[in-house]
Amino acid sequence: MIPYKHEPFTDFTKEENKQAFLDALKKVEGYLGQDYPLIIGGERIMTEDKIVSSNPANKEEVIGRVSKASRDLAEKAMNIANDTFATWKKVKPEFRADVLFKAAAIIRRRKHEFSALLTKEAGKPWNEADADTAEAIDFLEFYGRQMLKLKDGIPVESRPGEYNRFDYIPLGVGVVISPWNFALAIMAGTTVAALVTGNTVLLKPASTTPVVAYKFIEVLEEAGMPAGVVNYIPGSGSEVGDYLVDHPKTRFISFTGSREVGSRIYERAGKVNEGQIWLKRVIAEMGGKDTIVVDNEADLELAAQSIVKSAFGFSGQKCSACSRAVIHEDVYDQVVARVEELTKGLTYGDPTDPTNFAGPVIDQNSFDKIMSYIEIGKQEGRLVAGGEGDSSKGYFVAPTVFADVAPDARIMQEEIFGPVVAITKAKNFDEAIEIANNTDYGLTGAVITNNRHHIEQAREDFHVGNLYFNRGCTGAIVGYQPFGGFNMSGTDSKAGGPDYLQLHMQGKTTSEMF
Ligand code: NAD
Repeated sequence: MIPYKHEPFTDFTKEENKQAFLDALKKVEGYLGQDYPLIIGGERIMTEDKIVSSNPANKEEVIGRVSKASRDLAEKAMNIANDTFATWKKVKPEFRADVLFKAAAIIRRRKHEFSALLTKEAGKPWNEADADTAEAIDFLEFYGRQMLKLKDGIPVESRPGEYNRFDYIPLGVGVVISPWNFALAIMAGTTVAALVTGNTVLLKPASTTPVVAYKFIEVLEEAGMPAGVVNYIPGSGSEVGDYLVDHPKTRFISFTGSREVGSRIYERAGKVNEGQIWLKRVIAEMGGKDTIVVDNEADLELAAQSIVKSAFGFSGQKCSACSRAVIHEDVYDQVVARVEELTKGLTYGDPTDPTNFAGPVIDQNSFDKIMSYIEIGKQEGRLVAGGEGDSSKGYFVAPTVFADVAPDARIMQEEIFGPVVAITKAKNFDEAIEIANNTDYGLTGAVITNNRHHIEQAREDFHVGNLYFNRGCTGAIVGYQPFGGFNMSGTDSKAGGPDYLQLHMQGKTTSEMF
């Protein structure tokens, strides 16, 4: 087995890579607008009721019309997943891992096609789409290998005449509910973590990005995943989502999305319903309000670059995006001025055009929410850059910077999930860390400093799941920076980490006397 190494990013300054991506965009354009069925037990089921997925950069362009699961179809999928669990749990871990390795190889061969589809369906600029696809490949390669490491359990002690074992066994049927912002990577990662550990899955992808999820299920099928192991059931979150979360046969829920929906799922899953003989397990990865702290002894150019890149990459629509910056008063004016300059130099628009740094935001709701926060920001701080939006053709919001914002202002506390960053001033490093911790969330953070004592202080006191020094706060790599947050950012389930798969299994101890 080749040791795990993360998938490299594509260098689009090379002409051949650029051409390959343009070809992939053409290929994807060739299949836009099709109808897609549900996949339940391998059976394709077309429904009348459809979710229409459209291009957020060009609302008129339909990416696909995806069949929508009703409660009856969700029930059918649950029964099939439950039946399939009886056989899938007995399938050797090597077989399950091989499905992941082959799926990785298939996606790697069709890498630009998947990325081009993300550009169309999620509005991702080329490099962001490429990183999303690379991360999906990484999850497949990484979790496949992790399963092989865990397949014989973990050694425990035995005494003379006694043989003790500690093995991991699967849980049962898992409901996987994924977000649109890493429409391939997170959807794929959460799905395959559940299936490689021997569970069966009901996948409810985000309603804005269901087509890429369908294409991924086709890849799993091609890689040899038996029918019924993963069932593809797009549908309304409140209807199908609640139904499956409440279902007595649901053994666990793997959710990534907003705090609001995650908290709702956590609460509902806590109730033991009639016919249910277990306590459901919930893996919930939720929102963030992520801070970059800039010290007075720091590389100020690096600080400004890190803030701008982390705040505006993929239009700030990452749970790890920098949405607040806390800057030492000694260097405040200088860093704010440079952030302003860099932000005003950013181009945004159609993401199929690689000269645009950023593309659209995902939909009208998101556009409206971001624009309303920009209005709030105008009351709470000094608008330094951006502030405009235009949703006539697609959902475009200018990269927006507010300075001189109070630490407890709404735009400093609430997740906006768009290209808006709020900046505040701190008297000293202690106060900067205090402000950084002053949110309900705890996902990512970064500290730009050359002071080693401050690095150590932040390592202990800056309470986030992913803390970075002298770099931005986005871009965790599977297997290198296990990802997941504290407090209202979720259950600290570290995706891409060494103990992630165990969350999908239960430990069984056996002890034999000789
Ligand atoms: P969302 O919560 O609106 O939706 C996520 C998923 O939940 C979708 O599939 C949606 O259809 C489904 N859903 C909605 N209502 C439901 C219900 N009642 N029951 C079950 N499912 C339901 O989130 P989103 O807008 O897709 O994604 C953005 C959010 O995700 C942001 O808050 C972001 O910070 C967070 N996020 C977190 C991480 C992480 O790793 N912590 C990663 C990516 C995104």
